[in-house]
Amino acid sequence: MTISASLSRLRAGLSELADAHALRRRRVLESAQGVRVHVDGRDWLSFCSNDYLGLAAHPALTDAMVRAAGEYGTGAGASHLLCGHHLCHERFESEFARCVGMPRALLFSTGYMANLAVVTSLVGRDGSVFADRLNHASLNDAAVLSRARLHRFAHGDLDALDRLLASHPGADKLVAVDGVFSMDGDLANVPRLLELCERHDAWLLVDDAHGFGVLGEQGRGILSHFRLHSPRLIYLATLGKAAGVAGAVVAGETELIEWLVQKARTYIYTTAQPPALAAALSESLRQITAADGARAHLGRLVAHLRNGLQAQGWTLGPGTTPIQPVIVGGNAEVLALSATLEQWGVLVPAIRPPTVPERSARLRITLSAAHAEADVDLLLSAMAQAGP
Ligand SMILES: *Cc1c(COP(=O)(O)O)cnc(C)c1O
Repeated sequence: MTISASLSRLRAGLSELADAHALRRRRVLESAQGVRVHVDGRDWLSFCSNDYLGLAAHPALTDAMVRAAGEYGTGAGASHLLCGHHLCHERFESEFARCVGMPRALLFSTGYMANLAVVTSLVGRDGSVFADRLNHASLNDAAVLSRARLHRFAHGDLDALDRLLASHPGADKLVAVDGVFSMDGDLANVPRLLELCERHDAWLLVDDAHGFGVLGEQGRGILSHFRLHSPRLIYLATLGKAAGVAGAVVAGETELIEWLVQKARTYIYTTAQPPALAAALSESLRQITAADGARAHLGRLVAHLRNGLQAQGWTLGPGTTPIQPVIVGGNAEVLALSATLEQWGVLVPAIRPPTVPERSARLRITLSAAHAEADVDLLLSAMAQAGP
């Protein structure tokens, strides 16, 4: 076989994707991330980012990063266990643990890697992972990599989870959920999940990528929102969304975190994130806890958007977080809707399978505290013209 046969198979696969309106393309962001962006040569009002508090280009975070880069340079130069573990990392970890009220925290380079770390370190070939069907792809990949048995239950069906847990006594068990589901914007019922995990002796991993900074007292996330504490809780926050920087952090019991340091391959076999990022994260933590006003504003924007879209007859999700999906169904339909919005200078991503289930293609509108009510009004006018 020649390479040209392999390449022509790829070419055929790509044209199949194109025929199914499933080809993705990358836009080029030419400005800072924010509500007003310059993309592919023009100005847009954006409802695309996960920058829920407008921190991704905040001057205080930029200053912190620049100052730390001046002092410590750009690269960590080594993994954490060699000599790349920096005071900036160490500081952020203790500040984060204090912030969420858990004994210890561990910083990772990305949320994807943090999920791989937790799942593969806690369950192996003989264990079981129980996962909501709408969990983030990284949690599913983590389960596959762990070689544990993966049991997926229908979205939010905790009776089904209860039965699954009951039918797998013994062995190591871990239940994993998104705190805020990333494409639907609804919350996991963490209190009931914790109850089930207590009853069946399982770990509970809550991936709060979209809740940290947004939910709970002073933005401390979904566990604070529900006022939950338990040694079997593993709290994971990603830091490239509301926190406006990059990375992820896992918080939990001291023994759990020490186990991750010893065992987690995505912690051990990778270069530590640049210290300047961790310095920016410490500033981000200060900004997040002080942002009650921004969170209240964001809540009002969500209500305003939902009221407006409901009055126009669109199908919304049940959640009241800044992730507001408008369910359209077909790929071609959602792309047409997105294109109509583009004529208004409004950028909203069309999300298609396999990111979401078949026939549930949607617009994924995300709001930021940096939006003004007038921005939401413009989006509503554009949606009214597109028509449900
Ligand atoms: C974004 C996201 C991740 C991945 O985090 P990164 O830091 O971007 O790798 C993990 N889980 C959920 C639920 C996410 O939305």
